[in-house]
Amino acid sequence: MERPDDPEDRARHVAARLAELRARVARAAAAAGRPAGDVRVLLASKTMDAATVRAALRADADARSAGSGTPPVLLGENRVQELVAKAPELVDLAPAWHVIGPLQSNKVNAALRWAAAVESVADDALAQRLSERVRERPVPLDVWVQVNVSGEPTKHGAPPEAARGLAVRVAALPGLRLAGFMTVGANTADEAAVRAGYALLRRVRDDVVGCGEPGTAEAQGLSMGMSRDLEAAVAEGATVVRIGTAVFGTRDVAGPGSAPAR
Ligand SMILES: *Cc1c(COP(=O)(O)O)cnc(C)c1O
Repeated sequence: MERPDDPEDRARHVAARLAELRARVARAAAAAGRPAGDVRVLLASKTMDAATVRAALRADADARSAGSGTPPVLLGENRVQELVAKAPELVDLAPAWHVIGPLQSNKVNAALRWAAAVESVADDALAQRLSERVRERPVPLDVWVQVNVSGEPTKHGAPPEAARGLAVRVAALPGLRLAGFMTVGANTADEAAVRAGYALLRRVRDDVVGCGEPGTAEAQGLSMGMSRDLEAAVAEGATVVRIGTAVFGTRDVAGPGSAPAR
């Protein structure tokens, strides 16, 4: 997946990739007997510069004004440093930014200047810190409990058996709205294992939504599925798929500012 050097070529490339991705999501939704509009696309923009992200937002706006009927894409950043660098450059387009990586407590204030949601809440300490910082706001902050469904030790997220308790406590905190659950799927070519992980997140969600505790009934969201496995996630009920490479191309491991990946 190449990413052309010329900015206009790159913008066209991103627009074409986004259209393909939308079609892919629609096919996955149809295969699962779900309306395509039930699955929101979040673009994971790590390592991509603001101009590239802008091209994607423009393409999305164009598709919607041409009658695509899809809700606007969300944007996701893993690192607060990248969020605070990019968000001011895109403020005219008013995208909704989600934090999708581990959030250190000393970065909470910086993140909250831009984030509409934090999807990576995996412990009580972060939830409490967020609650303290937002409780004066007129509108609650959307938070998602991240669950490590695969148990891979390198992955962020609460263990599945701890997720329900954490979610109930998070839902009760002032200033926060528990919007749902997020996971990064197993890093394996074994489709059945990936899908079983997504099914597990759905069961955690159903368990919490049905538990009757304050603030839990609205926690319907399931943020799961990436470029390689969105079909499995949509089949298991994903309401948000987080997509990077399928739209932006391969990330250069050397990071932003270096030559585009080939
Ligand atoms: C990068 C990233 C994605 C998107 O991954 P792709 O494989 O590039 O689609 C999704 N979720 C998180 C948390 C990410 O860091």
